[in-house]
Amino acid sequence: MTASAPITQDVLTIPRKDAEGTGKVNLVGLTRDGMREALIAAGTPEKQAKMRMGQVWQWVYQKGVRDFDEMTNLAKDYRALLSENFEIRVPEVVSKQVSTDGTRKYLVRIAGGHEVEVVYIPEEDRGTLCVSSQVGCTLTCSFCHTGTQKLVRNLTAGEIVGQIMMARDDLGDWVPAGKGMGEQPRLVSNIVLMGMGEPLYNFDAVRDAMKIAMDGEGISLSRRRITLSTSGVVPEIARAGEEIGCMLAISFHATTDETRDKLVPINKRWNIETLLQSLRDYPKLSNSERITFEYVMLAGVNDSDEDAYRLLELIKGIPAKINLIPFNEWPGAPYKRSSNNRIRAFANIIYQAGYASPIRTPRGEDIMAACGQLKSATERARKSKAEIAKEAGL
Ligand code: SAH
Ligand code: SF4
Repeated sequence: MTASAPITQDVLTIPRKDAEGTGKVNLVGLTRDGMREALIAAGTPEKQAKMRMGQVWQWVYQKGVRDFDEMTNLAKDYRALLSENFEIRVPEVVSKQVSTDGTRKYLVRIAGGHEVEVVYIPEEDRGTLCVSSQVGCTLTCSFCHTGTQKLVRNLTAGEIVGQIMMARDDLGDWVPAGKGMGEQPRLVSNIVLMGMGEPLYNFDAVRDAMKIAMDGEGISLSRRRITLSTSGVVPEIARAGEEIGCMLAISFHATTDETRDKLVPINKRWNIETLLQSLRDYPKLSNSERITFEYVMLAGVNDSDEDAYRLLELIKGIPAKINLIPFNEWPGAPYKRSSNNRIRAFANIIYQAGYASPIRTPRGEDIMAACGQLKSATERARKSKAEIAKEAGL
């Protein structure tokens, strides 16, 4: 397990010299305080630093500018100083696939030559970007393709927020020159941390990246449009409420500890009751901020009527929305998707009890972009079958 030691919110992200060897500090991913410090370290007079940071911040996060020369409200020699010391770098797109339903799947390369996947899902009333927080995952949920891949490393805040910027580049979704914020609808309107990795095991980077995404002078997404999905890292859930404040989704998937131990092995550490208690305590909890319970429908494993009734019993008292996810199969997966009739019957029981129970339509299936199918084919580090079986108690 890689649970990070708790550190306070005011710890600055220390700008690191870039790992790709340009010798420049990447501005993407620095918090406001971090960027201010970095500008001072590069020679910006302290008195001007806050103002300069605000100007650079807007160019980077509102206009999507990558070249310091385009920052026309800054003096020429100051732009030169910036480009000597800094760069504005986002993950590089290695490949892009577009599904017949409009879903886009990007494979992006990050420092060290690693690759992660990012998925854009256009819908009528929104455009959702599914971002990754780790290369691989330490956990081994037995129905998840990412879970068969070893954790290679955590992404940095810059690599996480950089995925949003990369998608805005591809979609032409920046605020055009001469226009203000809010003058045109955004294509990337929602973010879900549902790509590769367990976001709460990369807490600090995820928090910093989401703070940048929520910043009103920048990418400017409201906290209600950002959903963090966790398999149930209980000690970090309250912290997520306090320090990030975004919407929360829980990969619930089972109604008894026996089954959940197999599907989501982290349950052996924090069981259903412990998890539910942490949700009852989720500080931001209110009727308008329901927690989403994700529930993958696996034929004959967790999809009976009894499961549906048990689920209702368990979540009593928690403002909740239940999101049923038809299992997305992948090569070698040990499960089958529940039949449509079974999923509908299950959904109906939930609905009759007064809960919204949308069935998540699989998107981008033809390009393997659906939930839980993400896995970069280039990563060689695989968990062995024995490791997976041991962790999952199979
Ligand atoms: N690690 C986080 C977020 C990533 S997964 C988590 O586990 O919550 C996003 C959602 O997709 C989770 O609910 C996950 O359990 C689900 N999922 C994983 N594999 C799946 C698959 N093959 N079919 C359907 N949903 C899957
Ligand atoms: Fe990791 Fe989430 Fe997949 Fe589990 S479902 S293996 S926590 S990415």
